Amino acid sequence: MSYDKMSASEPVQAFLERATGSFIDGRFRAQGNARDVLDPATGGRLATLAEGDGALADEAVALTKASFDDRRWRDLSPAVRERILLRFADLIERHGEELAQIETLNQGKSIHIARAVDVGFSVDFVRYMAGWTTKLEGSTREMSIGMPEGAQFNAYTLRQPLGVVAAIVPWNFPLMIALWKVVPALAAGCSVVLKPASETPLSVLRLAELAIEAGVPRGVFNVVLGSGSVVGTRLAEHPDVHKVTFTGSTAVGKQIGHAAVEHMAHFSLELGGKNPMLVLEDADLDKAVGGALMGGLLNQGQVCAAASRFYVHRSLHDEFCRRLAEAVDGMAAGPGMDPQAQVTPLVSQRQQRSVLDYIDRARAQGADIHVGGAVPKEGFYVSPVVISGADHGMEVAREEVFGPVLTVIPFDDVEEAIALVNDSDLGLAASLWTESLSQAMRLTPRIEAGTVWVNTHVTLDASLPFGGFKMSGLGKEFGPEAVNAYTELKSVCIAY
Ligand code: NAP
Ligand code: MG
Repeated sequence: MSYDKMSASEPVQAFLERATGSFIDGRFRAQGNARDVLDPATGGRLATLAEGDGALADEAVALTKASFDDRRWRDLSPAVRERILLRFADLIERHGEELAQIETLNQGKSIHIARAVDVGFSVDFVRYMAGWTTKLEGSTREMSIGMPEGAQFNAYTLRQPLGVVAAIVPWNFPLMIALWKVVPALAAGCSVVLKPASETPLSVLRLAELAIEAGVPRGVFNVVLGSGSVVGTRLAEHPDVHKVTFTGSTAVGKQIGHAAVEHMAHFSLELGGKNPMLVLEDADLDKAVGGALMGGLLNQGQVCAAASRFYVHRSLHDEFCRRLAEAVDGMAAGPGMDPQAQVTPLVSQRQQRSVLDYIDRARAQGADIHVGGAVPKEGFYVSPVVISGADHGMEVAREEVFGPVLTVIPFDDVEEAIALVNDSDLGLAASLWTESLSQAMRLTPRIEAGTVWVNTHVTLDASLPFGGFKMSGLGKEFGPEAVNAYTELKSVCIAY
């Protein structure tokens, strides 16, 4: 049975033919250096797209700005914009299978994940955010100033769209993370130019087409392709961009923040994590093992909030490791399009090499590696690795591997464990596993992370703010906080 692009549905094949490059002002741009988009399951070519350059980035910003300046989107009534965004959600849902197949073919992920998470979660997310178009609000303020004598004032705050938003997104959830930025920005009345990761440009191009079909005016949501170093840099430093919203590595996030400050653009950075799972002595081991497999191996660990370091009470440590190893041992590796595949390829050969190198260095440092690693098969596979009895100082316990590597470290004392959990530059998310309510209540405030889960991991919801502490970034996505972050707050004071 073949699971390459020829096995995809007819609409997917038609799209792979139709897409030729960036999508700006409602049409594809075929000019530019040709770049092959690969299928990580084979390394074979999926499509060829024209890459953008600095000049195209400038043009994309100019057209995005034109759509903001002539008010073709922001001046539609909130109810009309809400209806258009709801129609966008309907179209994503109606084309869900097509989008899921595009995502799986390009990113490598399991088709089950693409359907349930990349598409399913996104539909709910777009509907949730659509509702905020009609619910943005300012507030009235009481003035105390008494001059000139007898003067009276009426004062209030007004939320207005920030303007031109540049969104730069990574390759792990290309469609979903794009929507996390594009939809709240549109809900706030902004216009958006988006740059996908070079490895995974396809699904967002299809989204841009669907946005127009839903009624988003041309030029309000544009996609410009091209390398981070050329097109990404240009977007971040462009003087006509009012906000840069980025998800990716800490190193690039810092550069983007510096570039944005040069022209006082707002910026938000979601920069990944080295997320701990803390399993206390009284934890329910079945739940904790299930949570570790889900939290650690979703999308083959290519998840910013993935659990990747596990501090497990010494009394449970050996059994925890044994059960993890048993669960992953012998998992079938295969293309994401194969519904039976349990281990699907990583996004790229570069990511595969990077993860395998981490594993090799851990082995060289004396780590006890139970299962997994290289898969003797074409495609960019790494099968899940369980490292037991690891040392907190090891590289695999400290750095974001962004792959299916579960590093388990025993502890004896809760205070010691909290210190280990917090001993990291990163602080995106963490989970605590305990059956004790008072332990959960006492410990959650002490964990340095933007999200703390108790007895669950990687449970995201459109309503709950998501974003990191420490070097994991700045700003929140989801919830009203996300929409407000695409607005400027204006104070109005009227004397009468
Ligand atoms: P990255 O370099 O930060 O790339 C993320 C996005 O930024 C891509 O669209 C990339 O474009 C663009 N970019 C790269 N350099 C840029 C620059 N100088 N200015 C503006 N934009 C730029 O991440 P990566 O190299 O793909 O992955 C490296 C590591 O980052 C991963 O192993 C993982 O640890 C972390 N990561 C975190 C997340 C997350 O969800 N927080 C997601 C992905 C990766 P190109 O694709 O063209 O380079
Ligand atoms: Mg990079």
